Amino acid sequence: MFDQLVGNDRVKKLLRRMLDEQRLPGAMLFTGEEGVGKKLFALEIAKALNCRSPRGAEGCGSCPSCKRISKFNYPQSSESDDWKGIIWTDHPDVGMVVAPKRVLQVEQMRAIEREANFRPYEGRARVFLIDDADKLNDASANALLKVLEEPPHTSHIVLLTARPAMLLATIRSRCQMINFSPLTSGEIETHLVENRIAGIAEAPTRARVARGSLGRAVEQDFQEFTAQRAAMLKVLEALAAGDDRIQLLHSSEDLNAAPVKDEFEQRLDILETLIRDAWMLSLSAPAESVVNYDLLPQLERISKRLGGRRPEGWISQIEEMREQLIVNINRKAATDALFLTMAASSSSILPPKRRFLIK
Ligand SMILES: [Zn+2]
Repeated sequence: MFDQLVGNDRVKKLLRRMLDEQRLPGAMLFTGEEGVGKKLFALEIAKALNCRSPRGAEGCGSCPSCKRISKFNYPQSSESDDWKGIIWTDHPDVGMVVAPKRVLQVEQMRAIEREANFRPYEGRARVFLIDDADKLNDASANALLKVLEEPPHTSHIVLLTARPAMLLATIRSRCQMINFSPLTSGEIETHLVENRIAGIAEAPTRARVARGSLGRAVEQDFQEFTAQRAAMLKVLEALAAGDDRIQLLHSSEDLNAAPVKDEFEQRLDILETLIRDAWMLSLSAPAESVVNYDLLPQLERISKRLGGRRPEGWISQIEEMREQLIVNINRKAATDALFLTMAASSSSILPPKRRFLIK
């Protein structure tokens, strides 16, 4: 039942109508950020088409067919060869392909074409998901074109991607595109509480910082997140204090220390949300617009100390450093330079723009 899925009521309505009128397209492209439920919606379609005791045009969710469609038989090993076939669910008419490494393979698309041409073994329709369809390269995309053009009427192919612009126009034009919106923080919060994933104290913040992705909210280690955020709040405090260079260089060292090295990008993300929050408050935006709502008193204090400083400039300086990190500069030196540049650009006389140290 679509009602059991979180959010995207517009998509639910559209899919229900298509199922009701029995005009579900053979090729569909589900787009939208990671973790908004694209795969669950595609599986819900597979259930609707194969349910043994359908409720109207929808799957019941509890008959043997529906239950088996919910369970994928993922390969036990990480050997890429084991991932090159179709990963079937417990239902013989519903499967998915995922890229074994960075690219979806030609042979995977041929397998879909072959299987799509069989009549359903057990249910009324066969459904194939192509996960992260942006990982199609020219060769595998071309191998898929024919079956997308004219899928047999008992087969449906659903491509899933957060990056539709990466797909060839010839693929996009053959699919009915269905766009998923980010979830509201209210929708995420309710799901976290009702499913006992988070307590009432933790759920609101966890929902807000997930930025519309239920997947992100569910997978997040909240304790780790709050530790990371406390460290980044110190950076913001030092910036707001004007020119606390010693604290900033300490923070840069912490950020690059071995145990947290892998969290570097995540921590910069968090720093950006904190800067945005303080900036919003300094512009007298309502408190509800703040992402890190549980830190409201601290953020309000910081926002008052910003005076005429330009937090949006800090965000673009962080973004500029991220771009430079792609070309492999020394990260520690770049972070030192970033924080000092941010501190300098927040004093009243702006120095000439400094390039980050490149080693
Ligand atoms: Zn069912």
